[in-house]
Amino acid sequence: MSKIVTRIPPSPTGHLHIGTARTALFNYLFARHNGGSVVFRSEDTDRTRSKKEFEDEIIADLSWLGLSWDSFSRQSERTDRYRELLEKVVQEGKAYVSTEPKKDDPSVSIEVVRLRNPGTSVVFTDLVRGEITFDTAELGDFVIARSMTDALYHFAVVVDDMDAEVSHIIRGEDHISNTPRQILIQEALGAERPAYVHLPLILDEKRAKLSKRHGATSVMEYRDEGILPEALVNFFALLGWNPGDDREDFSLSQLVEVFSLDGIQKSGAVWNREKLLSVNQRWMRKLSDDAFITRGDLVANNQERLRKAVPLLRERARTFAEAREMLSGELSCLFTEPAVDRVRLLAKEPPERPGMTILALESLCEPLKALPEDVSPEMVKEALMPFADAEELKGKGGRGAVLWPLRFALSGQERSPDPFTLISILGSFETISRIRKAIAILRK
Ligand code: GLU
Repeated sequence: MSKIVTRIPPSPTGHLHIGTARTALFNYLFARHNGGSVVFRSEDTDRTRSKKEFEDEIIADLSWLGLSWDSFSRQSERTDRYRELLEKVVQEGKAYVSTEPKKDDPSVSIEVVRLRNPGTSVVFTDLVRGEITFDTAELGDFVIARSMTDALYHFAVVVDDMDAEVSHIIRGEDHISNTPRQILIQEALGAERPAYVHLPLILDEKRAKLSKRHGATSVMEYRDEGILPEALVNFFALLGWNPGDDREDFSLSQLVEVFSLDGIQKSGAVWNREKLLSVNQRWMRKLSDDAFITRGDLVANNQERLRKAVPLLRERARTFAEAREMLSGELSCLFTEPAVDRVRLLAKEPPERPGMTILALESLCEPLKALPEDVSPEMVKEALMPFADAEELKGKGGRGAVLWPLRFALSGQERSPDPFTLISILGSFETISRIRKAIAILRK
């Protein structure tokens, strides 16, 4: 096979769409797997909608995903080349300048360039879908340029693909109907026909085309939500492709190694958010404690406790947004002393033994003092359980009569991690101080 060249041709008219990113990934994987190259092309022919900010953002987001390319071009900078080839096809009689009334104002006449369409059937092979036939007669002599200096999109694309020697056009199924037009233009230009692969559409769970209504459709939104690029890449790869077995965990470099067009499916690929979250959680769990904090942009007023809270976050959070929410919500007591409510503190006190909560909390201070500052939840449990059990032996209230006020004194919350975990993160010094404050509240 001659050299493989694929293309990543986004239109900079909005944020990087997840469908565009998935297509870019497949182009990248196919080229890299086969030792080929990738061309990046900014398709900015729509001058009113294209924006440099979107182009920059798309490039940043694709790079964030780990994708790279070997050359870069912008359609707006290639108008001379398009004119040169428009003149050529007109000279050769394959296209012609047509003077006709303007569509929205028939009193004005304009000159457009139309392709002389032989009107035959165009047959092409899609490497995934097989042979596809289009009757092109009804396309008529379609317009390929608004003027000699203003080539339309299809003409520009064909010229660009030809000049970049693109060997494989891998793109979304929504572009399949562009293919016959583009093939007719290729034939007029005498360009070689690349191979085509049309990827299945991305569908929502009801098997409708994925739309904004369904949830986030841009890569940026997922990044902001705290989805790791490794996870998005892993998830994108499985949207319409599978390795032929039941493996599900793939890094970008592993994908480069195993990717092949054989694994691409024809039917629509369903965007399953639950699956994305579980893939993300798997990638989050692979991170070291420090990487978890930096990559998740996690901040707290106590770095030491933040570090100790990572195992909790790793176990519970499926995105970094969730982790950040936990830090300011149910785990905020690790960083800010809670306001403790007397009534809640006494919620489990057996009515027949008033004052036992104070005694129970006091009894914990001695064993807590004996603990080292840096201690595991298991060690805390081992040191404190005999005191909770001693209460249970007295028959009334059970362990909860000790563990509830302990947990509540430390967290001030109905829901929080268990007291042993809280103590292991807070350290015995802070723990004892919070217990003393709770006792003072009870004595009031
Ligand atoms: N610029 C088009 C898009 O962003 C790509 C068209 C193509 O791959 O031919 O959808």
